[in-house]
Amino acid sequence: MSGLFGSFDRTGASDVAKDLYYGVFSLQHRGQESAGIAVNNDGTFLSHKQMGLVSDIFDEITLSALTGFCGIGHARGGSDKAMGTDGIQPVLIKSRVGNIGIACDSVILNGDKIRDELKNLGAIFQSGTDSELILSLFSRNRISTDDCEHAILNMMKEMNGVYSMIFMTDNKLIGVRDPYGLRPLVLGKKGERYFLSSESCALDAIDAEFIRDIEPGEIISISKEGITSLFYSDDADRVKNGHVCIFEYVYVARPDSIIDGTEIFESRYKAGQALAKEKPCDCDLVIGAPDSGNAAALGYADSLGVPYGMGLLKNRYVGRTFIKSTQGQRELAVRMKFSVLKSAVKGKRICIVDDSLVRGTTTKHIIRFMRDNGAKEVHLRLASPEVRFACCYGVNADKVQDLPAHTKTDDEICEMIGADSLGYISLPSLKASLSGIHCGQCSACFDGDFLAGKNEGGEE
Ligand code: SF4
Repeated sequence: MSGLFGSFDRTGASDVAKDLYYGVFSLQHRGQESAGIAVNNDGTFLSHKQMGLVSDIFDEITLSALTGFCGIGHARGGSDKAMGTDGIQPVLIKSRVGNIGIACDSVILNGDKIRDELKNLGAIFQSGTDSELILSLFSRNRISTDDCEHAILNMMKEMNGVYSMIFMTDNKLIGVRDPYGLRPLVLGKKGERYFLSSESCALDAIDAEFIRDIEPGEIISISKEGITSLFYSDDADRVKNGHVCIFEYVYVARPDSIIDGTEIFESRYKAGQALAKEKPCDCDLVIGAPDSGNAAALGYADSLGVPYGMGLLKNRYVGRTFIKSTQGQRELAVRMKFSVLKSAVKGKRICIVDDSLVRGTTTKHIIRFMRDNGAKEVHLRLASPEVRFACCYGVNADKVQDLPAHTKTDDEICEMIGADSLGYISLPSLKASLSGIHCGQCSACFDGDFLAGKNEGGEE
């Protein structure tokens, strides 16, 4: 997963880099492996990018060197495919039709096939990343079309996958959301400066106004002449028929973001309330597994009429364990990440509310920490259903073997993680908590109802 941010100043003011910095900074919950910013300095593309956190990569000097009226930024999470420096974005190329830069959050399922076809036509690749592949495919299509937008449209017809992308050309900023709308992308504005962002929280960070979500299959183009949109399909119900990833609401997105009409905090709070009705718990204190379990825990406690309190502390300087790249890294991160407030939990029956149980690594450690610190009982409630299927779109686990709920019963999982009891929200209740949502949802990791292209085992 990645966080994308783009900015275009229609007056030509050349100081977009600071907005890009704060935008990408605000999206690091989507990825903390590397980050980068690229700008268009009147036809010369400049960039700075590295492995690491945004605050370590950029300072006043590097940012002041990035002068430009248009720019793109990227915060990248770990994935096997784009491991290491090869996957650092944005990626820039000079093509026969001009400069092109890209920041993308993508999984292209038929990427290997497209890469082989392009190689047979003479294309050269230096990495196995989607960003390089997409730029090559775009360049080939651009030669045979009148404009970038139709080149992107043609490219989308060749790609089977899920993506949000932001392109920077010599005179445009172009945002693309895949025809399923699986990854979010929003449009914002401050004066004559327009923004594209993975989430609305990054717009708030720079005091920009949220305008709207980019629709599934939309190619939105921002230039000095204005804003235009081209659509992958004429389907009038393309938004309603979309498949935004339900895990955005469960775990991925920041609670203060609004995606496709639903505020993340509110949806998590409501899921917690519904969970309390479906799976109540006799306990003295409800605590949230920080941070993505907190809103649901609050809803759960309010609904049960049980105190909600602090019991777990999180070390802010350790990244999200979910997006560490190996099992060893994840386990070490959990030990570094959480500590228990002994006075809050000692002698009490504790109910931990978490957003989900994917591998169970984090949860198992937290429960053990609770008991080590004197909790009398430790119950676990999950504000999402059993994760039974691996996600082939790069969001949660890659392999079904990593998912306890794929093979184990709830009782077996309860024993595995050392909880006194375990309860999940049902999928209908989770969906009902997304009040106001105007886009359809993907919930395949819960129900196995995958989009075309791959099955739950991740095989074509
Ligand atoms: Fe999101 Fe699950 Fe669908 Fe993957 S399978 S896109 S994690 S809802």
